[in-house]
Amino acid sequence: MAYSYDNQNIFARILRGDIPCSKVHETAHTLAFNDIRPQAPHHVLVIPKGAYVNADHFARDASDAEIVDFTRCIGEICQSLGITPGDGGAGYRLITNSGDDGVQEVPHYHVHILGGRVLGRMLAKG
Ligand code: AMP
Repeated sequence: MAYSYDNQNIFARILRGDIPCSKVHETAHTLAFNDIRPQAPHHVLVIPKGAYVNADHFARDASDAEIVDFTRCIGEICQSLGITPGDGGAGYRLITNSGDDGVQEVPHYHVHILGGRVLGRMLAKG
């Protein structure tokens, strides 16, 4: 399976610096910024800097260094937000939408970190 990456997608433009973002964290392989339409008091998007369309593409083609960096970034951001349950935080939810049924809007792999309130059940009915 080969994915075709649209380098005009909004997150590609953020990565190029063409449009601004509210940056939360950055490493060699990963960028995190606040979602422009927050669904919770904390709503951070974590994206790899590499051109990956979705979670499957990232899992297949990203290097070990990219995957480790991305995963650790999520942990570090949750720590810095004070929402990590193991450190007395109240918890959070990670979401990644993929493809049509996942209702993925932006075709650059990203994980949503949501926290700061009780988030309710995982899925609304319907
Ligand atoms: P998804 O449905 O998982 O693809 O969600 C894409 C997310 O990107 C949505 O939550 C949008 O609010 C968010 N988003 C779109 N454009 C921007 C932007 N320029 N800066 C920050 N977040 C954005």
